Formats: sequence, C-alpha cells, structure tokens
Amino acid sequence: MVTLLLIYPILFSFLYQLCFVEKLELSYLTLRSRCDDCLKEIRLLELIPVLSFIFLRGTSSCCNRKINIFYLIGELLSLIPLFYIFYVPHNLIDNATLLLIYLFLLVLAIYDLKTYTVPLHVIVVFAICICFITPLHIMSFLFVTSLLHVFYILFHNAIGYGDIIIFSLLALALPSIEFSIILLFTFICGGLFALFILLVFHNESSKIPLIPFIYLAFNITLLTYQNFIFGGF
Ligand SMILES: [Zn+2]
Repeated sequence: MVTLLLIYPILFSFLYQLCFVEKLELSYLTLRSRCDDCLKEIRLLELIPVLSFIFLRGTSSCCNRKINIFYLIGELLSLIPLFYIFYVPHNLIDNATLLLIYLFLLVLAIYDLKTYTVPLHVIVVFAICICFITPLHIMSFLFVTSLLHVFYILFHNAIGYGDIIIFSLLALALPSIEFSIILLFTFICGGLFALFILLVFHNESSKIPLIPFIYLAFNITLLTYQNFIFGGF
C-alpha cells in the first residue's frame, strides 16, 4: 500500500511530463527528470511526489521559479484509484485496466485544461498500453468509432477530434455497457457546465475542454456502477 502511494503519483508525473516532450525517443525513458524552466536535473529527494512540493513550498530549488501547480493536483488525484481498488467494491473492470484508464484520463484532462489539445504521442502510448493490458472489445470499438466519426463529420464544431479518439479508445478498453454510461455522464456533466457558462457569463462561444468531463464521468461511473446494476436504475 505504501509503495502504491509512491508509485501512482510517480506514474502520473512521468506521463504528465511526457505530454510536453516534443520529440519522443526511447532514450527519454533513461533520462533523469529535469526542471521545466531551466532544464537542470532534479535531485533525487526533490522527486518525492507531493512531499517535495510541500517542502519546496511550490518553488524550484534550481531557479526559484514556481513549480506548475498541476503537478501537485495531479499527484494527489492519482491516489484516488487506491480508494477504488481497496474500498469501493466493483466488478466493472480489473484493477490494471482501471489504473491505466484513470491515469491517462487524468493526465489528458489536465493537459486539455491547459492547452485545449491532446498530445498525439501520448494517445499512441495509451493505445499501445490498452492493446497489451486490457481485454479488447473490437466489435464495440468498430461500432462506436464509426458512429463517432459520422457525428464528427456532421457536427465538427461541437466536438474536437482528440475527444473522438479518446472515446474510441475507451470503447476498445471497456465493456459496451460501462462505456455507454461514461458517454452518458460525460455529456450530462459537460452539458450542465456549458449551460451554466451560458446562463452566468452569457458567453455562447467559449470553448470547453471535454476530457475533464470524460475523466469526471469515469469516476462517477466507478462510484455509482453498483447502483446501476443492482439498484434497478
Ligand atoms: Zn530550474
């Protein structure tokens, strides 16, 4: 359990930093972590997730710049799967699939919030991991991907192509019923948020990143799935 408390945030930090790598080579895996600002190698003790941020008071020791707060937020949120695995009884998906999807959605959601884009090389890594780690649902994937592409062609202003890819990968990795629930929750949460923006700020043209809502929907599904199946929803 203590090891997992360290491993999950480290996995998050690795994936999050990977999003910003412009040229991905295998040698990246052997490199030491570097400061985002001055690119100096980070000392071993400063790599301890969460605690190092607190001890350094959110400022890098090498160049005294503010450390990106998303590292702390992401590292803390990366601990939530422990709660799902140990305290929420679920037969939705196996633990490896749960962790894989959770961490990638978390990283991509934060990146989407920051940039309104998805890093293509990380999507490729996500797809490769899905193929090796999760049981694949090929028929559901083909059906969902075709349908989403038709939707994208008809309403390409309503959804980004990165979101279409993420949904397609989720359809590949998850059983169709669970995927449908996530899709439903995504559009309910995203729709309510868009309505809120429209009513409060009267802004019809503001761009809303969708992946944070997919991440939220995945969490809601994990928390409420038992009720869906046994509660006669
Ligand atoms: Zn620095």
